[in-house]
Amino acid sequence: MSNLPLIYDLTLDEITQMLQTWGEPSYRALQIWQGLYIQLWNTPDQFSNLPSSLRNHLSESFRFSGLTPGTILQSRDGETVKTLLTLVDGKAIEAVLMRYDERNTLCISSQAGCAMGCVFCATGQMGFKRHLSSGEIVEQVLFYARTLKQQGKRVTNVVLMGMGEPFHNYEASIAAIDRLNHPLGYNLGERRFTISTVGLVPLIKRFASEKRQINLAISLHAATDEERSNLLPVNKRYPIADLIQACKDYVELTGRRVTFEWALINGVNDTSESARKLVALLMGLLCHVNIIPLNPTRKFAGQATTRQRAEVFKNILEKAGIPCTIRIRRGIDIQAGCGQLATDANQTKPML
Ligand code: SF4
Repeated sequence: MSNLPLIYDLTLDEITQMLQTWGEPSYRALQIWQGLYIQLWNTPDQFSNLPSSLRNHLSESFRFSGLTPGTILQSRDGETVKTLLTLVDGKAIEAVLMRYDERNTLCISSQAGCAMGCVFCATGQMGFKRHLSSGEIVEQVLFYARTLKQQGKRVTNVVLMGMGEPFHNYEASIAAIDRLNHPLGYNLGERRFTISTVGLVPLIKRFASEKRQINLAISLHAATDEERSNLLPVNKRYPIADLIQACKDYVELTGRRVTFEWALINGVNDTSESARKLVALLMGLLCHVNIIPLNPTRKFAGQATTRQRAEVFKNILEKAGIPCTIRIRRGIDIQAGCGQLATDANQTKPML
């Protein structure tokens, strides 16, 4: 793969400015943009509406593909597909398509590896490799959008909940959403996106101040600092009180609810006592709790809870008036927990 810049790293304005410097008419910018984000073309040759001189100039100046698909795993029910994608420098990431309830939801990566070190997470166990560019985040969506288009379908929802902490790569994550949200392009509404953070308080504050329509999810998993710090080292830096205050400020500023993610680990955070602590923490906050039986990983001894214990946990929250849902572990048979496939790939590939 060449070292040319990636075309998906450019905004429409940047393409317009570039064409000006190339002496091309400005309307060509929209033709290129719509070719990329409506036609979903990914080679310069496909832009048959452009003169060949411009197509050649584009192909000499940009990469139209920064991701090479590798292993593709499909769940037994066929509704979840996970693809290993290799970046131009050889690092591996993952993107997952989940088809259910008429939705085509993508779970995409914002970084190769992750610096947050959550003990139950295969990506955290791998360590940080590098940030993805906005174009590399965008291209994961376009990759699946092309497949869905062949079936007459579209991506309906995108969650930045794959490999990496999206707020650790804040500008690129938001820029990628802006690009996919552009009304003259793929035009996927802001409300169709969810950013999941482990709780980087300063960035939650920044996100709140921008008053976007993007959904905010917090990986909480424990309701006391001692328990949470054991699972999520970032909690030592941004303790629960600060995190919950930032969430309250977010709700106040935006009027939008916060989703809390709680991965139920057998005997660790799936007890009635844990549920009651969570109730005390979230009481009065506009929120929703997603209860997710843990995806087991190789280096973490914790096991998923039983369905019965998950139901007890849910009942305690609901009785206290806290809305919650037990999320089925989709694609457990294809290692759908983030980073499990890429761990193998990154271990077997030379670091560039
Ligand atoms: S759970 Fe998310 S934030 Fe934590 S290590 Fe894994 S990828 Fe990073």
